[in-house]
Amino acid sequence: MSSINKQLAYPRVCGLLGVKPSRLSYAMHTAGFRELGLPFTYTAFDTHNTQAGLVAMRELGFCGLSLTIPHKEQALQFIDQLSQEARVIKATNTVINSQGLLLGHNTDCYGVTAALEEVGFSGKGKRALVFGAGGASRAAIFALKRLELDSILLTNRTEEKGHLLAKECKIEFVPYGRVRERLLEKIELFVNATPIGLPLSGGKGYPFSLDVFSSGQTVFDMVTRETELIERVRQNGATPVPGIRMLLYQALPQFELFTEQKAPKEAMEKALLEEAATVD
Ligand code: NAP
Repeated sequence: MSSINKQLAYPRVCGLLGVKPSRLSYAMHTAGFRELGLPFTYTAFDTHNTQAGLVAMRELGFCGLSLTIPHKEQALQFIDQLSQEARVIKATNTVINSQGLLLGHNTDCYGVTAALEEVGFSGKGKRALVFGAGGASRAAIFALKRLELDSILLTNRTEEKGHLLAKECKIEFVPYGRVRERLLEKIELFVNATPIGLPLSGGKGYPFSLDVFSSGQTVFDMVTRETELIERVRQNGATPVPGIRMLLYQALPQFELFTEQKAPKEAMEKALLEEAATVD
Protein backbone atom coordinates (compact mmCIF):
# COMPACT_ATOMS: atom_id res chain seq x y z
CA MET A 1 0.00 0.00 0.00
CA SER A 2 2.86 2.40 0.66
CA SER A 3 3.55 2.67 -3.11
CA ILE A 4 -0.11 3.62 -3.68
CA ASN A 5 0.10 6.21 -0.92
CA LYS A 6 3.10 7.84 -2.54
CA GLN A 7 1.68 7.66 -6.05
CA LEU A 8 -1.71 9.22 -5.36
CA ALA A 9 -2.77 12.61 -4.18
CA TYR A 10 -6.45 11.54 -4.02
CA PRO A 11 -8.16 8.38 -2.79
CA ARG A 12 -8.99 5.64 -5.27
CA VAL A 13 -12.69 5.63 -6.11
CA CYS A 14 -14.87 2.54 -5.71
CA GLY A 15 -18.64 2.50 -5.76
CA LEU A 16 -21.94 0.79 -6.26
CA LEU A 17 -23.78 0.94 -9.58
CA GLY A 18 -27.49 0.36 -9.04
CA VAL A 19 -30.95 1.85 -9.00
CA LYS A 20 -31.81 3.48 -5.67
CA PRO A 21 -28.77 1.77 -4.09
CA SER A 22 -28.91 1.18 -0.35
CA ARG A 23 -26.13 2.32 2.01
CA LEU A 24 -25.22 -1.19 3.15
CA SER A 25 -22.29 -1.77 0.76
CA TYR A 26 -21.13 1.79 1.34
CA ALA A 27 -21.07 1.19 5.10
CA MET A 28 -19.14 -2.09 4.80
CA HIS A 29 -16.48 -1.00 2.36
CA THR A 30 -15.95 2.39 4.00
CA ALA A 31 -15.46 0.69 7.37
CA GLY A 32 -12.99 -1.73 5.77
CA PHE A 33 -10.92 1.05 4.18
CA ARG A 34 -10.92 2.97 7.46
CA GLU A 35 -9.94 -0.09 9.50
CA LEU A 36 -6.89 -0.75 7.30
CA GLY A 37 -6.10 2.95 6.73
CA LEU A 38 -6.34 2.53 2.95
CA PRO A 39 -6.49 5.47 0.52
CA PHE A 40 -9.81 4.37 -0.99
CA THR A 41 -13.28 5.86 -1.00
CA TYR A 42 -16.66 4.26 -1.83
CA THR A 43 -19.73 5.97 -3.20
CA ALA A 44 -22.92 5.06 -5.09
CA PHE A 45 -24.12 5.82 -8.63
CA ASP A 46 -27.89 5.73 -9.03
CA THR A 47 -28.51 4.88 -12.69
CA HIS A 48 -30.28 2.50 -15.04
CA ASN A 49 -27.54 3.06 -17.61
CA THR A 50 -24.99 0.24 -17.30
CA GLN A 51 -22.95 1.38 -20.27
CA ALA A 52 -22.62 4.95 -18.96
CA GLY A 53 -21.47 3.63 -15.58
CA LEU A 54 -18.79 1.42 -17.08
CA VAL A 55 -17.63 4.04 -19.60
CA ALA A 56 -17.26 6.48 -16.69
CA MET A 57 -15.34 3.83 -14.77
CA ARG A 58 -12.85 3.41 -17.60
CA GLU A 59 -12.58 7.08 -18.55
CA LEU A 60 -12.50 8.54 -15.05
CA GLY A 61 -10.36 5.78 -13.60
CA PHE A 62 -12.67 4.38 -10.91
CA CYS A 63 -10.84 1.51 -9.30
CA GLY A 64 -13.67 -0.94 -8.59
CA LEU A 65 -17.45 -1.15 -8.82
CA SER A 66 -20.03 -3.31 -7.12
CA LEU A 67 -22.99 -3.97 -9.43
CA THR A 68 -26.55 -4.60 -8.38
CA ILE A 69 -29.98 -4.78 -10.10
CA PRO A 70 -30.29 -4.16 -13.06
CA HIS A 71 -26.62 -4.16 -14.05
CA LYS A 72 -25.20 -7.60 -13.25
CA GLU A 73 -26.19 -9.29 -16.51
CA GLN A 74 -26.30 -6.21 -18.75
CA ALA A 75 -22.67 -5.39 -17.82
CA LEU A 76 -21.26 -8.46 -19.55
CA GLN A 77 -21.34 -6.81 -22.99
CA PHE A 78 -19.18 -3.90 -21.75
CA ILE A 79 -16.56 -5.92 -19.86
CA ASP A 80 -13.18 -6.87 -21.34
CA GLN A 81 -12.49 -10.05 -19.38
CA LEU A 82 -14.60 -12.28 -17.16
CA SER A 83 -13.52 -14.57 -14.34
CA GLN A 84 -14.46 -18.23 -14.71
CA GLU A 85 -17.35 -17.81 -12.24
CA ALA A 86 -18.75 -14.71 -13.97
CA ARG A 87 -18.51 -16.42 -17.35
CA VAL A 88 -20.39 -19.52 -16.22
CA ILE A 89 -22.95 -17.61 -14.13
CA LYS A 90 -23.35 -15.01 -16.91
CA ALA A 91 -23.49 -12.18 -14.39
CA THR A 92 -20.92 -9.95 -12.71
CA ASN A 93 -21.30 -8.15 -9.39
CA THR A 94 -17.72 -6.84 -9.17
CA VAL A 95 -15.79 -4.93 -11.82
CA ILE A 96 -12.12 -4.03 -11.46
CA ASN A 97 -10.42 -1.41 -13.60
CA SER A 98 -6.96 -2.71 -14.40
CA GLN A 99 -5.29 0.18 -16.24
CA GLY A 100 -8.33 0.72 -18.45
CA LEU A 101 -9.17 -2.97 -18.83
CA LEU A 102 -12.47 -3.87 -17.15
CA LEU A 103 -12.41 -7.25 -15.39
CA GLY A 104 -15.71 -8.79 -14.30
CA HIS A 105 -15.94 -11.11 -11.30
CA ASN A 106 -18.80 -12.77 -9.47
CA THR A 107 -18.50 -12.93 -5.69
CA ASP A 108 -22.22 -13.64 -5.14
CA CYS A 109 -21.55 -17.37 -5.48
CA TYR A 110 -18.99 -17.17 -2.66
CA GLY A 111 -21.58 -15.22 -0.65
CA VAL A 112 -24.07 -18.07 -1.05
CA THR A 113 -21.58 -20.79 -0.10
CA ALA A 114 -20.18 -18.92 2.91
CA ALA A 115 -23.64 -18.03 4.26
CA LEU A 116 -24.68 -21.70 4.02
CA GLU A 117 -21.44 -22.88 5.63
CA GLU A 118 -22.06 -20.49 8.50
CA VAL A 119 -25.22 -22.37 9.47
CA GLY A 120 -23.55 -25.77 8.98
CA PHE A 121 -25.44 -26.68 5.80
CA SER A 122 -23.70 -29.47 3.90
CA GLY A 123 -24.92 -30.33 0.44
CA LYS A 124 -24.42 -34.06 0.05
CA GLY A 125 -27.69 -36.00 -0.22
CA LYS A 126 -29.83 -32.87 0.08
CA ARG A 127 -32.58 -31.53 -2.16
CA ALA A 128 -32.96 -27.82 -2.85
CA LEU A 129 -35.47 -25.57 -4.57
CA VAL A 130 -34.27 -22.29 -6.04
CA PHE A 131 -37.04 -19.73 -6.42
CA GLY A 132 -36.37 -17.23 -9.23
CA ALA A 133 -34.34 -17.22 -12.43
CA GLY A 134 -32.38 -13.95 -12.50
CA GLY A 135 -28.71 -13.21 -11.81
CA ALA A 136 -28.95 -14.12 -8.11
CA SER A 137 -30.52 -17.45 -8.96
CA ARG A 138 -27.70 -18.18 -11.40
CA ALA A 139 -25.12 -17.51 -8.67
CA ALA A 140 -27.06 -19.74 -6.23
CA ILE A 141 -27.27 -22.63 -8.71
CA PHE A 142 -23.53 -22.33 -9.42
CA ALA A 143 -22.76 -22.44 -5.69
CA LEU A 144 -25.17 -25.32 -5.00
CA LYS A 145 -23.74 -27.39 -7.84
CA ARG A 146 -20.31 -27.12 -6.19
CA LEU A 147 -21.86 -28.37 -2.92
CA GLU A 148 -22.88 -31.56 -4.72
CA LEU A 149 -26.53 -31.66 -3.67
CA ASP A 150 -28.59 -34.68 -4.58
CA SER A 151 -30.97 -32.58 -6.64
CA ILE A 152 -31.62 -28.92 -7.40
CA LEU A 153 -35.09 -27.84 -8.52
CA LEU A 154 -35.83 -24.46 -10.04
CA THR A 155 -39.04 -22.53 -10.37
CA ASN A 156 -39.83 -19.10 -11.78
CA ARG A 157 -42.91 -16.92 -12.22
CA THR A 158 -42.14 -16.53 -15.95
CA GLU A 159 -42.00 -20.18 -16.89
CA GLU A 160 -40.11 -19.85 -20.15
CA LYS A 161 -37.21 -18.06 -18.47
CA GLY A 162 -37.11 -20.65 -15.70
CA HIS A 163 -37.24 -23.50 -18.19
CA LEU A 164 -34.33 -22.09 -20.16
CA LEU A 165 -32.16 -21.60 -17.08
CA ALA A 166 -32.96 -25.09 -15.77
CA LYS A 167 -32.06 -26.57 -19.15
CA GLU A 168 -28.81 -24.59 -19.32
CA CYS A 169 -27.84 -25.68 -15.78
CA LYS A 170 -29.05 -29.26 -16.28
CA ILE A 171 -31.41 -29.13 -13.32
CA GLU A 172 -35.13 -29.83 -13.04
CA PHE A 173 -37.73 -27.14 -13.68
CA VAL A 174 -40.88 -27.14 -11.55
CA PRO A 175 -43.80 -25.07 -12.84
CA TYR A 176 -44.60 -22.15 -10.52
CA GLY A 177 -48.12 -23.42 -9.95
CA ARG A 178 -46.76 -26.72 -8.60
CA VAL A 179 -44.75 -25.09 -5.82
CA ARG A 180 -47.07 -26.04 -3.00
CA GLU A 181 -46.68 -27.23 0.58
CA ARG A 182 -46.41 -30.93 -0.41
CA LEU A 183 -43.35 -30.32 -2.55
CA LEU A 184 -41.74 -27.88 -0.10
CA GLU A 185 -41.97 -30.35 2.78
CA LYS A 186 -39.72 -32.74 0.84
CA ILE A 187 -36.75 -30.41 0.34
CA GLU A 188 -33.94 -29.60 2.76
CA LEU A 189 -33.06 -26.17 1.33
CA PHE A 190 -35.23 -23.37 -0.05
CA VAL A 191 -33.50 -20.41 -1.70
CA ASN A 192 -35.46 -17.26 -2.44
CA ALA A 193 -33.68 -15.47 -5.30
CA THR A 194 -36.50 -13.00 -6.00
CA PRO A 195 -37.30 -9.62 -4.40
CA ILE A 196 -40.45 -11.02 -2.73
CA GLY A 197 -40.41 -9.69 0.81
CA LEU A 198 -39.26 -6.21 -0.14
CA PRO A 199 -41.92 -3.55 0.45
CA LEU A 200 -41.75 -2.54 -3.23
CA SER A 201 -41.38 -5.95 -4.87
CA GLY A 202 -44.40 -4.96 -6.94
CA GLY A 203 -46.27 -8.22 -7.09
CA LYS A 204 -47.95 -10.95 -5.11
CA GLY A 205 -46.14 -12.82 -2.40
CA TYR A 206 -45.24 -16.52 -2.34
CA PRO A 207 -47.71 -19.02 -3.77
CA PHE A 208 -47.53 -21.09 -0.52
CA SER A 209 -47.94 -20.68 3.22
CA LEU A 210 -44.89 -19.17 4.96
CA ASP A 211 -45.43 -21.65 7.79
CA VAL A 212 -44.53 -24.66 5.62
CA PHE A 213 -40.88 -24.88 6.71
CA SER A 214 -39.88 -26.66 9.92
CA SER A 215 -36.97 -28.19 11.80
CA GLY A 216 -34.40 -29.92 9.54
CA GLN A 217 -34.97 -27.45 6.71
CA THR A 218 -32.83 -24.44 5.78
CA VAL A 219 -34.37 -21.33 4.27
CA PHE A 220 -32.08 -18.87 2.50
CA ASP A 221 -33.75 -15.56 1.69
CA MET A 222 -31.49 -13.37 -0.46
CA VAL A 223 -33.49 -10.24 0.32
CA THR A 224 -31.16 -8.08 2.38
CA ARG A 225 -33.63 -6.91 4.98
CA GLU A 226 -35.48 -8.88 7.65
CA THR A 227 -38.42 -10.51 5.82
CA GLU A 228 -41.63 -12.10 7.00
CA LEU A 229 -40.37 -15.40 5.54
CA ILE A 230 -37.27 -15.35 7.76
CA GLU A 231 -39.33 -14.33 10.78
CA ARG A 232 -41.75 -17.27 10.29
CA VAL A 233 -38.88 -19.69 9.61
CA ARG A 234 -37.35 -18.71 12.97
CA GLN A 235 -40.69 -19.17 14.74
CA ASN A 236 -41.23 -22.60 13.16
CA GLY A 237 -37.80 -24.07 14.02
CA ALA A 238 -36.24 -24.20 10.54
CA THR A 239 -32.76 -22.71 9.99
CA PRO A 240 -32.86 -19.18 8.58
CA VAL A 241 -30.17 -17.73 6.33
CA PRO A 242 -30.99 -14.02 5.97
CA GLY A 243 -29.75 -12.23 2.84
CA ILE A 244 -27.64 -9.87 4.90
CA ARG A 245 -25.24 -12.75 5.61
CA MET A 246 -24.76 -13.28 1.86
CA LEU A 247 -24.31 -9.52 1.44
CA LEU A 248 -21.49 -9.60 3.97
CA TYR A 249 -19.80 -12.65 2.47
CA GLN A 250 -19.97 -11.44 -1.13
CA ALA A 251 -18.41 -8.15 -0.01
CA LEU A 252 -15.30 -9.72 1.55
CA PRO A 253 -13.74 -11.06 -1.68
CA GLN A 254 -14.99 -7.92 -3.43
CA PHE A 255 -13.04 -5.77 -0.96
CA GLU A 256 -9.99 -7.93 -1.63
CA LEU A 257 -10.36 -7.45 -5.38
CA PHE A 258 -10.66 -3.67 -4.88
CA THR A 259 -7.71 -3.28 -2.52
CA GLU A 260 -5.56 -6.43 -2.81
CA GLN A 261 -5.71 -6.56 1.01
CA LYS A 262 -7.38 -9.13 3.29
CA ALA A 263 -10.84 -7.84 4.19
CA PRO A 264 -11.29 -6.88 7.86
CA LYS A 265 -14.42 -8.98 8.39
CA GLU A 266 -15.18 -7.87 11.93
CA ALA A 267 -15.13 -4.14 11.12
CA MET A 268 -17.15 -4.62 7.93
CA GLU A 269 -19.73 -6.82 9.65
CA LYS A 270 -20.16 -4.34 12.52
CA ALA A 271 -20.70 -1.47 10.07
CA LEU A 272 -23.16 -3.55 8.05
CA LEU A 273 -25.25 -4.50 11.07
CA GLU A 274 -25.27 -0.92 12.36
CA GLU A 275 -26.38 0.41 8.98
CA ALA A 276 -29.00 -2.35 8.56
CA ALA A 277 -30.48 -1.43 11.95
CA THR A 278 -31.26 2.06 10.62
CA VAL A 279 -33.28 0.72 7.62
CA ASP A 280 -37.03 0.55 8.19
P1 NAP B 1 -33.36 -10.18 -11.29
O1 NAP B 1 -32.26 -10.62 -12.18
O2 NAP B 1 -34.15 -8.96 -11.60
O3 NAP B 1 -34.37 -11.43 -11.14
C1 NAP B 1 -35.51 -11.31 -10.35
C2 NAP B 1 -36.22 -12.66 -10.27
O4 NAP B 1 -37.27 -12.51 -9.32
C3 NAP B 1 -36.85 -13.11 -11.57
O5 NAP B 1 -36.77 -14.50 -11.64
C4 NAP B 1 -38.31 -12.66 -11.41
O6 NAP B 1 -39.23 -13.47 -12.09
C5 NAP B 1 -38.50 -12.87 -9.94
N1 NAP B 1 -39.55 -12.02 -9.37
C6 NAP B 1 -39.53 -10.66 -9.25
N2 NAP B 1 -40.64 -10.22 -8.63
C7 NAP B 1 -41.39 -11.34 -8.37
C8 NAP B 1 -42.64 -11.54 -7.75
N3 NAP B 1 -43.35 -10.52 -7.25
N4 NAP B 1 -43.12 -12.81 -7.66
C9 NAP B 1 -42.39 -13.85 -8.14
N5 NAP B 1 -41.19 -13.72 -8.73
C10 NAP B 1 -40.69 -12.48 -8.85
O7 NAP B 1 -32.82 -9.96 -9.81
P2 NAP B 1 -31.58 -10.69 -9.09
O8 NAP B 1 -30.34 -9.93 -9.33
O9 NAP B 1 -31.62 -12.12 -9.44
O10 NAP B 1 -31.95 -10.46 -7.54
C11 NAP B 1 -33.02 -11.14 -6.93
C12 NAP B 1 -33.07 -10.79 -5.45
O11 NAP B 1 -31.89 -11.23 -4.79
C13 NAP B 1 -33.15 -9.28 -5.17
O12 NAP B 1 -34.00 -9.03 -4.08
C14 NAP B 1 -31.72 -8.92 -4.82
O13 NAP B 1 -31.63 -7.77 -4.00
C15 NAP B 1 -31.31 -10.16 -4.06
N6 NAP B 1 -29.86 -10.34 -4.01
C16 NAP B 1 -29.27 -10.34 -2.80
C17 NAP B 1 -27.92 -10.53 -2.71
C18 NAP B 1 -27.29 -10.57 -1.36
O14 NAP B 1 -26.08 -10.37 -1.26
N7 NAP B 1 -28.05 -10.86 -0.32
C19 NAP B 1 -27.13 -10.68 -3.86
C20 NAP B 1 -27.79 -10.67 -5.09
C21 NAP B 1 -29.15 -10.50 -5.17
P3 NAP B 1 -39.68 -13.17 -13.61
O15 NAP B 1 -38.65 -13.84 -14.47
O16 NAP B 1 -41.02 -13.75 -13.70
O17 NAP B 1 -39.69 -11.67 -13.76
